Amino acid sequence: MTLLQTTTTILICWVIFIIAWERILPYRKGLPFFREGFWVDLVWYTIIQSYVLKIVIFDYIINPVRLHFDWSGLQFFKSWSITEQVLFFVVTHDLYIYLFHRLQHASKLLWRIHEAHHSGKEVDFLAGSRSHVLEIIINQTIEFAPIVILGADPAVVPIKAMLDAMWGMFIHANINVKLGKLKFFFNSPELHLWHHANYREVFHANFSTKFALWDYLFGTIYDPGHKPGELRENWGLYYDYPKDYFLQHAFSVIRFDEKGLLKHNWFRHYYDLRPKLVNRIKILFGLRQAAKVVNMPPPLDADENLMSCNQ
Ligand SMILES: [Zn+2]
Ligand SMILES: [Zn+2]
Repeated sequence: MTLLQTTTTILICWVIFIIAWERILPYRKGLPFFREGFWVDLVWYTIIQSYVLKIVIFDYIINPVRLHFDWSGLQFFKSWSITEQVLFFVVTHDLYIYLFHRLQHASKLLWRIHEAHHSGKEVDFLAGSRSHVLEIIINQTIEFAPIVILGADPAVVPIKAMLDAMWGMFIHANINVKLGKLKFFFNSPELHLWHHANYREVFHANFSTKFALWDYLFGTIYDPGHKPGELRENWGLYYDYPKDYFLQHAFSVIRFDEKGLLKHNWFRHYYDLRPKLVNRIKILFGLRQAAKVVNMPPPLDADENLMSCNQ
């Protein structure tokens, strides 16, 4: 079995394990599996965006940079085992992520490429995948470029990518888990789900990804000992945010009122495109009677129409 096959198998097992854990011990009870935005997160962010950005980051950024800066000859990791190399990059990158994440919450400009991550009102194992294109390009270039340029073992990249995915799913998972004293060191849903809650107190807190240690060390921990609440307004952003992948990215450049734009025919055509397509697929697989989604909905119904197709 190749390394890639091994990491993929572990990842698939982890997904099944986390999904079962969410069903058995939910943090928020009654959160549906096919929650709002599930298909956008799965199809656009997890599959399409990840696939495209892997090519962009490695083939068009890191490899060309390596042609000019290749320090593998220094043999910096010559006497290091793969485990030691993975640990080194996990810890150093996690500290970077903490600092950059904190900066994103402090800077209006950088917030524009981070707000997508906070936009979900129903947070689960898949919610962590929702990250702006630029946020991923910046973070993953900074994450993987040193591994390649410094000449670490090639196995470090897939192993670290697997750990990122596993830890990302874990801290966003809707599971009621208490780490006890370990929570002072490792991050968990107990702390990170608060980071996705809609409260002023947590807007500048709980920035850690893998190690909660950073939040404790730098005084940005928020752990009130109770949950944020079950209501929709207790979660996500305090302002309206588009539900469509491309509109989410457009919103980071220019602010607009999604419902207001529905008075324009061209926008209503675009807005209807995905519900119509999903409806057709459902009809094709016999999941739904032919429904007339084609009739352009009035602005107030459009949101509901889109949401129903997310389920
Ligand atoms: Zn954040
Ligand atoms: Zn998150």
